[in-house]
Amino acid sequence: MPPRTVLILGGTGEGRALAAALPRFRVISSLAGRTREPLLPAGEVRIGGFGGVDGLADYLRAQRVDVLVDATHPFAAQISANAAAAAAVTGRPLLVLRRPGWIERPGDDWHRVPTLEAAAALLPRLGRRVFLTTGRQGIAAFADTPECWFLARSVEPPTPPVPLHLEVLLDRGPFTVDGELRLLREHRIDVLVSKDSGGADAKLVAARERGIPVVLIDRPALPAAAATATSVEEAVAWLHT
Ligand code: NAP
Repeated sequence: MPPRTVLILGGTGEGRALAAALPRFRVISSLAGRTREPLLPAGEVRIGGFGGVDGLADYLRAQRVDVLVDATHPFAAQISANAAAAAAVTGRPLLVLRRPGWIERPGDDWHRVPTLEAAAALLPRLGRRVFLTTGRQGIAAFADTPECWFLARSVEPPTPPVPLHLEVLLDRGPFTVDGELRLLREHRIDVLVSKDSGGADAKLVAARERGIPVVLIDRPALPAAAATATSVEEAVAWLHT
């Protein structure tokens, strides 16, 4: 029997960890191609969009994919919707691997908002020196907030429009609490903006320690999935059943 073929829609640490944890499968990982030097997962890798639901469905058939795993970032709503639709039309089982969101702890001062735009509107009331960690594509939403100064961290440089008062810090995690505390102190940050991505939380711990507010952007709604896993271990177990 040839090994079962798994297509992992990735671009996340979980996607890479899952690809490395399936030695008995033929694993293809798919990346969107947003970063110039992506961290490459183990196994086969393809890069670039599929061309919508039809393109993804064609790919599943052409590559004889047996099972589809959506291990994309919780904010990558379009590809998740496409994955659900393509799995349905091709009759492939779909597993959604999604790390849990963050939970507020004593000492936190969190302000949850539904969108990047709502975060930008709220900011001037909470602080003026902002640590913006929403990623390159999330920076444009803050372009019309001239009252604030931004330290924006991203893997790739942002493209216009960008805020008037902006310093860009090109960096990729993992980050440490000590490193985050140093950044907050050196740049006199008085408010942090983050998506509720879940996972490593050094920046949130640092904000709590310094007593600064956090604007947390809620996750977009995702299509209902037949199967979900919240960790790589759960996903591996599901794939072996
Ligand atoms: P998105 O808005 O949900 O998707 C837009 C389009 O990009 C999709 O329709 C698809 O094009 C293509 N695409 C997205 N992910 C893909 C993948 N893994 N493989 C092939 N094509 C993909 O996506 P996004 O929010 O820009 O995220 C892009 C990638 O970055 C994802 O892999 C995600 O896991 C990763 N990422 C996103 C964030 C975030 O905050 N959004 C953060 C960290 C990492 P076609 O319709 O042509 O197939």
